[in-house]
Amino acid sequence: MRVEINGDLCSNRRVKSQVFIALGSNRGDRELNLLRGVAELGKIPGARVVALSGFYETEAVGGPDQPDFVNAVVRLETSLDPRQLLAELQRIENEVFRRVRTLRWGPRSMDLDILFFGDLITAGDDLTIPHPRLHERRFVLEPLAEIAPEFVHPLLNRNVADLLDGVGKNERVVKIQE
Ligand code: ATP
Ligand code: CA
Ligand code: CA
Repeated sequence: MRVEINGDLCSNRRVKSQVFIALGSNRGDRELNLLRGVAELGKIPGARVVALSGFYETEAVGGPDQPDFVNAVVRLETSLDPRQLLAELQRIENEVFRRVRTLRWGPRSMDLDILFFGDLITAGDDLTIPHPRLHERRFVLEPLAEIAPEFVHPLLNRNVADLLDGVGKNERVVKIQE
């Protein structure tokens, strides 16, 4: 039997959701960290990296005075559920990058956030999707718009290109690598 769910034709395999992950680093070799992060995402069992934005150097927003970030966004196909994926992202942050948590919004070697998980909407103590601050952040929307301008935010019902048009230009966001 074949069933169509959210436009995905599936038989007896699990549906692969379209997932977007933001990567950020402002400690150590930031670009090398991002490349390593992308490679680690590709090694998650049941996940495949299907698109990668350019790399952007961005001014840190919120939190203490700290070095600029390098940010990027990837699109993943995955058969994991959102919680399993979050656990994998936290394993990469903590075990691969030895991320040290000091201040909220402080400097870090790797930050991996789930932006969208298909059109899923969920809000809990440890996981909120869509990411609740993505639409206010040029450092997220610029790389996201490069790989998914037409993707519609399931809560705001606006596509990524529109969200980018509406966000302030105060933050410095400069593309440094295709
Ligand atoms: P921000 O969320 O504003 O980008 P941050 O990335 O610095 O801040 P962290 O300290 O990395 O915040 O994460 C705090 C907690 O956020 C994590 O432990 C995780 O449980 C939770 N969280 C909630 N929603 C998400 C999401 N969509 N992606 C990643 N983590 C999330
Ligand atoms: Ca973050
Ligand atoms: Ca995070």
